[in-house]
Amino acid sequence: MNTLALPAKLSVLFVTSEIYPLVKTGGLADVSAALPAALRHQGMDARILVPGYPQILAAFKIKWVVATGLFEFGEARLLSALLPDSDVPLYIIDCPALYQREGGPYQDNHGNDWVDNALRFALLSRFAALLGSDESPLTWRPDVIHCNDWQAGLAPAYLHYLRGKKAATVMTIHNLAYQGVFPSSLVTQLGLPMESYSMHGVEYFGHLSFLKAGLHYADRITTVSPTYAEEIQDETLGFGMQGLLAQRSDQLSGILNGIDEEQWNPANDRYLGSHFDADHLEGKAECKRALQRRLGLEMNDKLPILAVISRLTHQKGLDLVLEAATDLIKLPTQLAILGSGDSGLELAFRLLAQDHPGKASVTIGYDEGLAHQIEAGADIFLMPSRFEPCGLNQMYSMRYGTPPVVFATGGLADTVVDLTDKTLADSSATGFVFDKMKPSSLAECVKKAVSAYGNKKTWRRLQQNGMSRDFSWDHSAKEYIALYRQLVPD
Ligand code: ADP
Repeated sequence: MNTLALPAKLSVLFVTSEIYPLVKTGGLADVSAALPAALRHQGMDARILVPGYPQILAAFKIKWVVATGLFEFGEARLLSALLPDSDVPLYIIDCPALYQREGGPYQDNHGNDWVDNALRFALLSRFAALLGSDESPLTWRPDVIHCNDWQAGLAPAYLHYLRGKKAATVMTIHNLAYQGVFPSSLVTQLGLPMESYSMHGVEYFGHLSFLKAGLHYADRITTVSPTYAEEIQDETLGFGMQGLLAQRSDQLSGILNGIDEEQWNPANDRYLGSHFDADHLEGKAECKRALQRRLGLEMNDKLPILAVISRLTHQKGLDLVLEAATDLIKLPTQLAILGSGDSGLELAFRLLAQDHPGKASVTIGYDEGLAHQIEAGADIFLMPSRFEPCGLNQMYSMRYGTPPVVFATGGLADTVVDLTDKTLADSSATGFVFDKMKPSSLAECVKKAVSAYGNKKTWRRLQQNGMSRDFSWDHSAKEYIALYRQLVPD
């Protein structure tokens, strides 16, 4: 008889301090909403653990108590609810003393860090460890605790010191710049044994670091692109963690984030007046005209529009665009920029637009609708980031038939394939990559893109290659499942 053995269902607890659309300060929130849903889609039993901020408690009318307990930090209850749409089970830590307050997840309304952040996220980590141990109050037991960023970093440390059978742990870095560094005096207050306070533990330059704890004790470490996983092992991008990361390089890997393919779909994008797909690009020409009209650019089908949508910060390398502007502005192109951030960059871009009416448009601010219209109406997307753990905009732009020009770093290097004779022939080319962080290299690369734009056949192939790439969360979920399987064999 032929029996088909199905792989056993893995149980994964995804531990996070943000979840879109309820609480978001960065990309972690998007990942937290999308990845557990994609894991469930592939038959895994993924569930989420989050702090009970007011926005989260208010969002779920139906929730039930699954456990209560007294911790070093006070009384806390564990509630359960289901995420709407995806039906992902959510465990919410209800601890009013730590989470019930007005303000952001990490800061008050004046931008000051909450003084008890160590306690707030130690509780998140403590619950995660508890649920992954024999002492769990639940009958459901995760095979893997998937910890995200410093806020969940203590979970592998707590788990290490618990007895009995334990879940495996994965620590994912979404933002290495934030490391959860606190006074060493908190070690015992947070319920960690003093012996954990060593170089081979939670100690980090004389302090306690939650992220360091996660990176040291977790069974596996991941970040959001393979190239970034390499780059953070060096001093330039390692933010002080490079030594530990290099030492653990055998357990460190990069898995690219996916994109929300429903929100970012040129075939039915709600912000667009006309729609298109890889085989029907006429709608894109309509979007271009609508964009030129909206931004006050000269109505001209022939000129490629170079676009930027970005936080205006040093990381994003937009100072290079400014420095190359005299060169770029001479090209037969138009410029459409949307962004906000550093006031010096904002002013410089405003002046650029003033000096070149009809040719350069600069919108300072955050505008979701305009971001979609620029992705659709522009022709070439500029993303010269100095570093980029994964990056989303280059993926959106490929999906919208707007090949990107990117610096060869992190997720940009992993998602964009430079146009060459070879990559054109094998249909892998999706954009343009430059490898020297210099205005002249950016300008050269843009010139190459503008010249390719002049060749209709090449351009169409480039667009179609990018538009048919798989940037789905299902793809990322498969890679995470393969990683979990290394820790929990069938
Ligand atoms: P990062 O997370 O480092 O800012 P990403 O490329 O990963 O960079 O993601 C940026 C996200 O923020 C994208 O969804 C992009 O469209 C959006 N975004 C950035 N700046 C703006 C803006 N000024 N207006 C609208 N959307 C923006």
